[in-house]
This record gives sequence, structure tokens and C-alpha cells, in this order.
Amino acid sequence: MIRFNVPPFTGKEMDYIRQAVENQKICGDGEFTRKCSEWIEERTGTRKCLLTTSCTHATELAALLAHIQPGDEVIMPSYTFVSTADAFVLRGAVPVFVDIRPDTMNIDETLIEAAVTEKTKAVVPVHYAGVGCEMDTIMDIAARHHLYVIEDAAQGIMASYKGKPLGAIGDFGCFSFHETKNYSMGEGGALLIRNEKDIEDAEIFREKGTDRSKYYRGQVDKYRWQNYGSSYLPSELNAAYLYAQLEMADAINEERLNLWNQYWRELEPLAEAGRIELPFIPDYCVQNGHMFYIKNADLEERAALIDFLKENDILAVFHYIPLHSAPAGLKYGRFHGEDRYTTRESERLLRLPMYYGLKEDQVSFIAGKVKEFYGF
Ligand SMILES: *Cc1c(COP(=O)(O)O)cnc(C)c1O
Repeated sequence: MIRFNVPPFTGKEMDYIRQAVENQKICGDGEFTRKCSEWIEERTGTRKCLLTTSCTHATELAALLAHIQPGDEVIMPSYTFVSTADAFVLRGAVPVFVDIRPDTMNIDETLIEAAVTEKTKAVVPVHYAGVGCEMDTIMDIAARHHLYVIEDAAQGIMASYKGKPLGAIGDFGCFSFHETKNYSMGEGGALLIRNEKDIEDAEIFREKGTDRSKYYRGQVDKYRWQNYGSSYLPSELNAAYLYAQLEMADAINEERLNLWNQYWRELEPLAEAGRIELPFIPDYCVQNGHMFYIKNADLEERAALIDFLKENDILAVFHYIPLHSAPAGLKYGRFHGEDRYTTRESERLLRLPMYYGLKEDQVSFIAGKVKEFYGF
């Protein structure tokens, strides 16, 4: 059986976890957390990176830092993972969904401004499949309307838009290190902070509302309860696992891109014959091989292809059920404008197996079976 995803493992993880245990520091913010954060700061140029327990939690931190209040509106795509909306709904905000572009599956930047109201506080671009949203346009709209930009870059680490690393463009950026992502710590994430002024509050929200981060650095002689907050620090054991992969990030990225390019080459004849569509990468976006998807004609054809692949021991999956049509989306959010592409495109997108360690002959086998399904 060719699995859809296998969590990344480079070989050094166990040594680093052992080291964390031997350091007798297994709670958060030890040596490995520091190494991971510094690596991210260096590679993205962000002012400050805080490792978190998930991308969902990084987004919750961003919502706290953006002072999201009940009744505020936050603009985002409906074609995304639930966490994008959850973090704001928890603060009482209303997710305002706008349509996506059918080419990249990212939020349609030309529809954002019309969705802005007096209540709008933030825009949340989601860099789907590690392909950047139209950030120049989004940053310009945000500046003119005084909105926060919170990038859901869960899939976007090591990718860039016009030379700028995804996650480090808006006020805040959120990475995921879930086991389905390019680099993993099981469950985990990171918050990227662009502005100096937000760092102190972020550290306090992340440390149960205390200034313990300052205390650890010797800047205060005791730590006290300063504000509301929660516990968003991952354990050192998880950070140790992640660091083994960050050290090898370039090699992992290259391998994923090779697999991605191979899928593309082998499936191109099908696309040229008009049977499927392949992903589109704008030429000023550098992607990271996070995902390889194809688009089928419609829902029925996709279901038949999934069954056919399963019969051939290949697991292919689809996502997302658009948030605005899900029970919580109906309850908490609203769609602004027309749903021209969100539902239609989500029904024909199919993700093929993609992970670090997938073999070239497996990609050939999978692409061959997709072609066979279409009679090629
Ligand atoms: C994976 C993912 C998340 C959630 O990440 P967690 O680390 O599991 O919280 C959020 N948004 C998008 C777009 C994702 O792909």
C-alpha cells in the first residue's frame, strides 16, 4: 500500500530527543526550542519566532495580539482548514469568507476590498500548497484600511513570494509542524512576529499571561501574572525531533521538489489532452513541494479515481469541505459575494501521495495508474 503521508524522519531525531532528556530540560524553551526558533528567524528574516504547540495555537496567539474582539470581522478564504477560522471564532469574531482563484486555490485578492466593513480587523491569506497569495495587493489593502495581516503559512515554510519568505510578510505568520507537513514535531507550530512592539505581549500570552520569558533571560528577578494568556509552549522533546529536520531542510525540500516535478512531467500528457488540470505556480512564487494535486472533471470522476487508486494500493485524498457550508461555518461565519469557485473547485481536487522518502518508482507507478484510469 502506498500511503498518502508518512511523517518525516531523518535519523538524528532519537539522538536529539535523548540529548533533551540528558539535558534534564524537557519542558518548553530549552536548547532545542531556541535552536529551532533561531533557525526560523535566520531563514525567514522575521524579527521573532516563537515555537508553539500547533499552527492553530500560533493563529490563536495572532488573534490575541491583533486584539480581536466579539463582533469583529476577519476576511479569509472558505477553502481552508478549520483552524484558520477557529482561532478567530474563539475570540467572538465573524469569519467573512471570500471566493478563491481557481488557478492557485488561494484567496482572490481582487475580492477582498469589497468585503471590508467598519468591523473588519484582519485579513488571513492562506498560502495553499505552499504557493504564495498575492501579497502585494493584500498588504496594500490592509495598509489602506488599517487591517492586520495574519498569514496562515501552515503549508508555506521554505516557500516565497517575490523573494519574501511566506509567513514573514504580514504582521504575523503561522507555521505548522504537524506530522502531515514538510517538517514535523508530531504536533507543533510557530508564530512569526514582524514588529518589535508585539514581541513582549506575544511572550506573555504564550506563557500563561506571565513574564516568565523575561525571567528566564534574567531581565526580571521574579515572574508575575501580567495579563490573560494560555500555555502555548511545546515540550523540548518535540522541538528536538523538529530540529533534526530543520538541519536538513534544504535536502528535504529538494527531494520533495524532485518528486513534485516528476509527477508533473509524467502527468503532463493527460493535462495536454484536457483530461485533468495540474497545479499552477505563478513565476514569482517559489513553492516547497508540500502537495501534489490534480483536478478531475467533477465529484463523480474524482470518487471513481479514488476507488481505482485504492484498488491499486494507492491512497489519494481530497480536502477541504468549504467552511461556509459546514455546520460551524453556517453558525459563525458568512460568505461575502458569490461562490463561483470555492465549492466547484474543491469538489474536483485530488491530492496524490507526497512525503519525504517517497520513491521515484512509486511516483511513476501512481502516475501510471492515473493515466490508466483515463485510458492513456
Ligand atoms: C495543517 C494546517 C493548519 C493547522 O495546523 P496544526 O499545526 O495542526 O494546528 C492550519 N491551516 C492550514 C492551511 C493547514 O494546512
